[in-house]
Amino acid sequence: MFDEKGILFILSGPSGVGKGTVRQRLFEQETHLKYSVSATTRQKRPGEKEGVDYFYKTKEAFEKMIHEKKLLEYAKYVNNYYGTPREYVEEQLELGNDVFLEIEVQGALQVKKSFPEGVFIFLFPPSLEELKNRIVSRGTESSELVINRLKEAKKEIDMMSEYDYVVVNDDVDLAVSKVKSIIVSEHCKRERIEKQYKKILEDDTDARTIN
Ligand code: 5GP
Repeated sequence: MFDEKGILFILSGPSGVGKGTVRQRLFEQETHLKYSVSATTRQKRPGEKEGVDYFYKTKEAFEKMIHEKKLLEYAKYVNNYYGTPREYVEEQLELGNDVFLEIEVQGALQVKKSFPEGVFIFLFPPSLEELKNRIVSRGTESSELVINRLKEAKKEIDMMSEYDYVVVNDDVDLAVSKVKSIIVSEHCKRERIEKQYKKILEDDTDARTIN
């Protein structure tokens, strides 16, 4: 009766912002989320496990997955492929489970095309937040250093426009609690609740109609 699909959450952001740490801490606390394990051609690091951290693939095997359209998205990052297996994500969403992806930005943009209804969370570098505070508190800041840094920052800030939420990662626990709040808020969205109730009412009306 309550055939509501799960919600797809995508955590992304610039390289080095701490996505992996936030995701790990989140999964220590949230048991209902399903983590989508990515495929990669990079070498396994000490302590990592096949099927837990990644599905480790050869370049040939990965390219076969691309060819067979088995990936929801993929990207090349530091000379290695990384990609999200499509089947697991689609299955879990159908079952009504929330799915969580932690991927770099090129991949997130691809997901946006096939899952525009996904919830896109941009993890924001604390260095940029500091930069903003410095400029705001000093009024017009014109030091060359800040201007150069701003130019570099512009690219990262431009990426933000594709996302629904921005979480500054200045403190991991705080960032995790913000991501958890986003998950709760999304489940309370009027559109989602309304759709569920309308469906129940429609089904019930159909069942009671006597011709
Ligand atoms: P690492 O090699 O440190 O585990 O990950 C490198 C980068 O790849 C990180 O930014 C991580 O978020 C990203 N990444 C991990 N899995 C995927 C994936 O399936 N797709 C994309 N596009 N990026 C991924």
